[in-house]
Amino acid sequence: MPATLADYQEIVGQGVIDELRVLADRVRGRSMQHINSTAVGGGVAEILTRLVPLMNELGIHTSWDVIKGDQAFFNVTKAFHNALHGKHEEITENMFEIFRATTEANLRDVNLTGDVLLVHDPQPAGLILKKKEIGRHWVWRCHIDVSTPQPEVWNFLRPYVDQYGAAIFSMPDFAQRLAVPQFRIAPSIDPLSDKNRPLDDAAVSQVLEKYHIDPDRPVLTQVSRFDRLKDPLGVIAAYRIVKKRHDCQLVLAGGGAPDDPEGEAVLAEVRAAADGDPDIHVLMLPPFSDLEINALVRGSTVVLQKSIREGFGLTVTEALWKRKPVVGGAVGGIKLQIIDGVTGFLVHSPEGAATRVAQLLRDRKLRERMGENGYQHVKQNFLITRHVKDYILIMLALEHPGESVVHLNACYPSIYDTSSLNLSA
Ligand code: UDP
Repeated sequence: MPATLADYQEIVGQGVIDELRVLADRVRGRSMQHINSTAVGGGVAEILTRLVPLMNELGIHTSWDVIKGDQAFFNVTKAFHNALHGKHEEITENMFEIFRATTEANLRDVNLTGDVLLVHDPQPAGLILKKKEIGRHWVWRCHIDVSTPQPEVWNFLRPYVDQYGAAIFSMPDFAQRLAVPQFRIAPSIDPLSDKNRPLDDAAVSQVLEKYHIDPDRPVLTQVSRFDRLKDPLGVIAAYRIVKKRHDCQLVLAGGGAPDDPEGEAVLAEVRAAADGDPDIHVLMLPPFSDLEINALVRGSTVVLQKSIREGFGLTVTEALWKRKPVVGGAVGGIKLQIIDGVTGFLVHSPEGAATRVAQLLRDRKLRERMGENGYQHVKQNFLITRHVKDYILIMLALEHPGESVVHLNACYPSIYDTSSLNLSA
């Protein structure tokens, strides 16, 4: 049974749930439609899977549609994705043509029904061309780090983005100069999903056993799509340095996403780099392996997310929530989550990662302290209830353009218990 709002009370407290209901009352009956480019794989799909039902439970009609594209389109958008993250890609006029043609097809096929249309990332960004015809509130939700984009791609994308009513970025560093208002909303995890809910030791052991991982020796784990920006080869390099002094194992667990065509090639590179080392476990997991990923992280001693570029890095949030110390690349949203030396360590190289992993392997108390800090940090800042609230506030902000204060006072009796007050004038 999927969790309902009331189930979150035990984690976040009754006040948070009450506040959500009060805010949702202000937009009750309105609709929000999310549009992205994949139903499975990657952080956006992970978030929407749980956010959509919770918003519906609050009385906000929330739907989720996925645009269609062929292999050529997703090759183009993956190159755009890399280029927007600042990696150099060869960009040709033909790629822009492919993007425009698929956008045209989706403009015909996607049924745009929401009062608020929340369009995620560059792939479906061209749907904005429909705004002139149908109106509505349009928001571009950017999950990637576009602070230093390859100019050709950003110059192509920006005229689309400037037509939106607002843009949302995951952190202030990502904001670009745009003609539209910008909001900052960090992503979130669902503490009650199969990916994150508590598991007993037996369930964890069973998964370790299935993959022939020795529970009695330290386990280093990175969970990620097989993507060069996640630097799986850098993780193997770090493991090899650590391994000289500490007997440990490495788990590289990942799957593909239909909108990421590079996965197979990267997986082959990773397998080659692992070079038959029996202590490196390269696991290609099918979609919906949430319970197994949960168990693999819980069975780990240290979690890595050695990305070279990163939008947010939900895998970091997921690991911190499980009280695991995380060694992560000092990029993008990882910097919001890893408070260096407090919830984990930020690193800039395989050597740096190896030093920090070795330090953590030597010091159980340090691991426990960081694990507890990480859990608290996620609890305060990166749970789905906060995310739902942010989206409701966006709806309110869009309905009150130009107002710096939105009055919610009509609903104060629902927030405060006024039964003991004398309310007569
Ligand atoms: N994930 C998964 N299976 C995999 C690899 C990743 O379910 O094989 C999940 C992972 O647990 C996380 C999301 O996909 O919830 C990845 O989000 P993140 O922000 O870390 O990276 P993205 O893939 O969006 O770049």
